[in-house]
Parts: sequence; C-alpha cells; structure tokens
Amino acid sequence: MTTPQYLSKLDHYINGAWVQPTSGKGQDVVNPATNQPIGKLGFASKADLDAAVKAADAGFKTWRKVSAFERAKILRKAADLVRARADQIATALTFEQGKILGEAKLEVMGSADVIDWFADEGRRAYGRIIPARADGVRNMVIMEPVGPVAGFSPWNFPVLQATRKISAALAAGCSIIVKCPEETPGSPIEFVKCFEEAGVPDGVINLLYGVPAEISEYLIAHPSIRKISFTGSVPVGKQLASLAGLHMKRATMELGGHAPVMVFDDADTDSAANLMAFLKYRNAGQVCVSPTRFFVQEKAYDKFVAKFVDLAKAVKVGDGFDPASKMGPLANPRRVNAMESIILDAKEKGARIETGGSRIGNAGNFFEPTVLTGVPQNARIMSEEPFGPVAVMMPFKDTDAMLEQANSLPFGLASYAFTKDAKTAAKLTDSIDAGMLTINHFGIALPETPFGGIKDSGYGHEGGIEGLNAYLQTKFVSHLA
Ligand code: NAD
Repeated sequence: MTTPQYLSKLDHYINGAWVQPTSGKGQDVVNPATNQPIGKLGFASKADLDAAVKAADAGFKTWRKVSAFERAKILRKAADLVRARADQIATALTFEQGKILGEAKLEVMGSADVIDWFADEGRRAYGRIIPARADGVRNMVIMEPVGPVAGFSPWNFPVLQATRKISAALAAGCSIIVKCPEETPGSPIEFVKCFEEAGVPDGVINLLYGVPAEISEYLIAHPSIRKISFTGSVPVGKQLASLAGLHMKRATMELGGHAPVMVFDDADTDSAANLMAFLKYRNAGQVCVSPTRFFVQEKAYDKFVAKFVDLAKAVKVGDGFDPASKMGPLANPRRVNAMESIILDAKEKGARIETGGSRIGNAGNFFEPTVLTGVPQNARIMSEEPFGPVAVMMPFKDTDAMLEQANSLPFGLASYAFTKDAKTAAKLTDSIDAGMLTINHFGIALPETPFGGIKDSGYGHEGGIEGLNAYLQTKFVSHLA
C-alpha cells in the first residue's frame, strides 16, 4: 500500500485559474488525528474577492446561455471524474477532517450522485402557461437562474456540503463563489478540479478561503451576488440571514439540529439500536442530523439502552486511515473541549455516564463514544447541539408528553421513529416539529429528497426539486400576439 499524501499546494480557484491568494495571511491545515500541520492555506484578500465577483459575473453571463441539456452533459462528466478520483479526494478528506477513509469515500461517491441528480433536474426547470382572459394572450411563467451565488460550506462534510451548493447552482444556470472551510480545504480543491476538467467555463465556479466573517460580509453585501447559501451553526446562520435580509438577498440556511429518536415498545429494538448507534457515531457525531435525544418507551427502554451501550463500547476509535477504525478523531480541538464541557455539565447535574465521557490519549482529537442516562432537563446537552459522539437516553410512557418534549427545542431538523404501529407513525408524522422524519429506517439526505429544517434549524432545502428551485427565480410574461 502506498503511503497517503496530502496536497502539496492549496490554491484558490478564480476565473478558471488556480492561484495563490494575495492577502499574505493564512493558517496551517492540521491533521486531527495527530494535530500536526500538513499544509499551509493562504487567505483571500479584498482584491481576490473582487476578482472572484468579477469572474462570477462574467461566468454567469456565459453559463446561463449554455442550454440545460449541455450543462447536464458537463455536470455528468464532472460526476464521472469525481467517481474516478474518489480515492484521491477521500484521502485529502481523511487527512484534514479525520473521518475514516470508508466514510470519506462514501461522501465522495454520494457527492457524485448529487451532481448527477441536479444535472438532470436542471433539464426539468419547467415553467407553466396560465389560461389567459383574452384571446391571443399567452400568460407564461418562466424559471430563470437567480444569478451569481455566494456559498458557505462547513468542515463536517467538506465535499458533500460544497457539492449540494455547487451542483444545484450550476444546474440552474447560476455561477457560484464558494467559500469552503479553512480547516478542510484540500478535498474541495480536488473536487472542484473535476468540474474544471469536465469543461465548466471560467468564472462559473470560484473557490476561495479566508476570514469567514470578512468574506461573508463582503459577498453578501455585493450587488452582483443574488443568492446566499450557508451551512453551519445557528448563531452564524442568524447573522448571515440578517445580512442577507439587509441587502434583500435570497438565502438558504442549513443550520444545526438536535434530533429526537422515538423508539416505541412495539419496535424491533435491536435493529433500531444497530442503525441508530451507527448513525450516532458516524463522522464522530459531527452531523447536523445526528440522532441525539433518545426517547425510548418504558418496556423497551432497558433492552434498547443495553444494546446501544454495547454497540458504543464496540466502536473502535482510531486514525481514519487505519482500516480497523470505525470512528476517527473529532475535527478540531474545539470539539473536544465542547464535548468535555457539555458532558461535565451533565455529570455535575446528576447524569450517569453509561459509557465513554472522556477524550482518548493526548495526541489528536479522539473522544470516546458516549452514552448518558438520567440527564436532568436543565443540563446544557438537553438544549445545546452536542455535535459530537454523545447520545442521551430517556424513558417515556405517554406519547403526547414525549412529543411535547421532543418538540420543545428551537431546533427542527431531522427526527427518527421506530414503531410497527401505523397509527403511531401517522400521529408522529402529523405532530413532530421537524423538517424531516424517517420511520423504521434511515431514509433522509438523498439527492432526490428535500433536505432542510424549520425553526432555528433554518429555511430552504438542498435536495429534491426544492434544492433546484432555490437557485431559480420566477418571471411572469403576458404576451398579446
Ligand atoms: P462556528 O459557528 O464558528 O462555525 C460554523 C461554520 O460557519 C464554519 O464552517 C465556519 O467557517 C463558518 N462561519 C463562521 N463564521 C462565519 C461568518 N461570519 N461568515 C461565514 N461563515 C462563517 O462553529 P464551529 O466551531 O466551526 O462548528 C461547531 C458548530 O457549528 C456546531 O455546534 C454545529 O452546530 C455547527 N455546524 C453545523 C453544521 C451543519 O451541517 N449544519 C456543520 C458544521 C458546523
């Protein structure tokens, strides 16, 4: 086996050229498994941002004239290149983000599927004809690309989260400036190269890195930018949504979650525990749809918790490149501190740690898969998104009271349920305050289905036809021939 290598150079992509930014500032890229630097990333200057906006403006003028049919061909070619280079892209991803290589490859292959889906959906950006009130009049609704987009994507899925924005924007005929995460710049670079080589014209995609607040403030305010798409935390989302409002820009906000899992007495508790433990510890829990608050009906509670704890104990934590590892390190030392503090708070308020609860070793950001029980309502973890490998188990008796608690947080992203009873499933479908509910299996986050939240979890969607519509604007034309 060849020793994996990280990228030797971390360039920005502006107007079809790979360039070094000109601010003179930057930061080290660090391997979360060792906390050793593996690369140097430069930050964009104001002149670089200006160049990117100019390029996106020109790129939009070119790209919107390319037919949806031709755009789809180019995008499909990019998807094929992503698949062909999955190993290379996934290697960069594991190096800089920490997730196990198998998960990194799944992320990359899943991203290729997202590109394919949007490539085709762009060909179905249908308008409509509305019956007119007078003879000879045609009332037409035409869907047009909204214009140059500014996308801000996070470090938990550096490739997938960038893909959702880039693919949908390009399929709709928009150009995009995407600010990918400074902590994980290499995999988006490798990924964007596939679009370049597939024939996406200069200026249509621009990729840069820098001081996040400086870039977002500049781009959101810029008159050329017509649409914002952000994935990240609720506080930053609220800040960027206000800015977008101030400048009358359309926005999609994919923010945090605190997913409830509702396990009923009649469920197959073993298979529910297997699936949920897998999803909880995937990407070390740094997933906005990660299952976190487990409401388990009384009769099933002991069995479910015992099984889940066994599964948590069996997760082998280690370097993402070690084939034996089932969970890598947390992406950065901030997450380790956040885990320690939120777990200590729960413990001090009376929670029991059934397993885990501590960091592992002192090199790298490794943390134990953790299960808490007996957590009081006033513990921070009951209302703050842990964004890490921690699950909270709670027994419940009455469905209505449980639902009230499940719906009590300002978050409303993903939710999970396990029951064989159709009436219970229908009640949950009608009553859960969430953007997504998946019952008896994991069925969310596919390219063809809408992905998005309600309440503080944000607004807008990144999959399904909704994901494409986010980049289209409506023009109504009434024509008397
Ligand atoms: P953070 O709030 O500092 O940053 C979150 C993301 O927003 C990062 O990618 C960051 O680069 C970006 N960001 C921060 N300030 C910005 C600004 N002014 N303009 C544009 N982008 C900006 O938090 P963090 O420590 O990086 O991540 C931890 C928290 O973020 C977690 O608690 C989680 O809730 C949230 N998060 C959510 C997702 C998601 O998929 N929804 C992904 C990553 C992080």
